[in-house]
Amino acid sequence: MTSFVTHLESAIDGTHLEHDKIQTMHNDRPLWVRYDLDAVRNAITPTTLRDRPSTLWRYRELLPLPTNHEPVSLGEGMSPLLKADRLGASLGLSDLWIKDESQLPTGSFKSRGLTMAVSMAHRFGVKRLAIPTAGNAGGAMAAYAARAGIEAYVFMPRDTPVINQMECVLAGAKVFLVNGLIPQCGAIVRGGVESMGWFDCSTLKEPYRIEGKKTMGLEIAEQFDWQLPDVILYPTGGGTGLIGMWKAFNELRTLGWLASEKMPRMVAVQSDGCAPIPRAFDAGERFAQPWENAHTVASGLRVPSAVGDFMMLDTIRESVGCAVAVPEAKIKDAMRRAIAAEGIAICPEAAACVLATEQLVSDGRISPSDRVVLFNTGSSAKYIEAVSLDLPVIENPGDVDYTALG
Ligand SMILES: *Cc1c(COP(=O)(O)O)cnc(C)c1O
Repeated sequence: MTSFVTHLESAIDGTHLEHDKIQTMHNDRPLWVRYDLDAVRNAITPTTLRDRPSTLWRYRELLPLPTNHEPVSLGEGMSPLLKADRLGASLGLSDLWIKDESQLPTGSFKSRGLTMAVSMAHRFGVKRLAIPTAGNAGGAMAAYAARAGIEAYVFMPRDTPVINQMECVLAGAKVFLVNGLIPQCGAIVRGGVESMGWFDCSTLKEPYRIEGKKTMGLEIAEQFDWQLPDVILYPTGGGTGLIGMWKAFNELRTLGWLASEKMPRMVAVQSDGCAPIPRAFDAGERFAQPWENAHTVASGLRVPSAVGDFMMLDTIRESVGCAVAVPEAKIKDAMRRAIAAEGIAICPEAAACVLATEQLVSDGRISPSDRVVLFNTGSSAKYIEAVSLDLPVIENPGDVDYTALG
């Protein structure tokens, strides 16, 4: 058997679609990839995984790429799961962990989704990929497209962090700056699908990025010896990671691989400069209204509307989690604090999760002894615009006044 996928399933109405050909959405809403989990259970056990290479491809039976196809890979995953005692203590927590995705190819967890999407596109013979992006997804797609020898078109807001622009250019993508945000970039891609022969790699508009992001959940489970944590805080933009992890946990539960029935509470974190998901969550709605005048230094969270909004909100509610908006004005400071506490390259998006943790500890929704996992979704090094440096200069290295160094 080369794949355990049985079919694709519409997330909005459950319609089954064939998986052996290119699919995008159904009724303009995303698709789930479904597997024959009984067959997976008979084929492998957690012990099987132990001897496999430490990349996300170790979960091959739970991934959509048939085993007779080579992945388009840059060696992605598994990422370190680091105990964060110093940061934890400052937040009043004794069991805080950081899942550090900053070390993945192209410096963000977007490589998980794009290795899968590009591998599947390559399998289906796609020649041209296009993507609207807040930054990191474009960089990752450009890299994997280069790796596969596929053409890449990237559309990003004009003020996207310059490193994201650079990584796309260096990988040979055709890059365009757009006077608008990700929905406008998405409309450009949609409009060009026919005439330009593009395959649309937008978040959740093809079924496979979510399967790549799912591996974050599989890794957490394996790294914690199949015992899931109490709370997971995830900086949420398009939502693939949040949705993907919840899918992973449910698949593991069905497989019977989990050591206990406990499922984590999933917390979606956004900035109060762009918080459509917390707003919809608080209002008890299943679909989110677009956010006006979206702005945040955490560029990955600058997603004013998302096609998977209901999947995020369903996940949060099923898991008895919540959605939190944190003050935009505090994100840069939290980023410095967290990096100084742990030495981990915390991105602004993850800094928002630090603030959310603080908020939830103080209002009692997280208890001091809870096992909490906070996602560092990318590397701080990609956000040079977020850091203002005003460093003292030693003009005369031969004559240093040490008492002035502090
Ligand atoms: C894209 C991105 C996010 C949001 O991820 P989704 O899975 O789309 O919700 C968070 N952090 C960073 C650094 C990102 O690049």
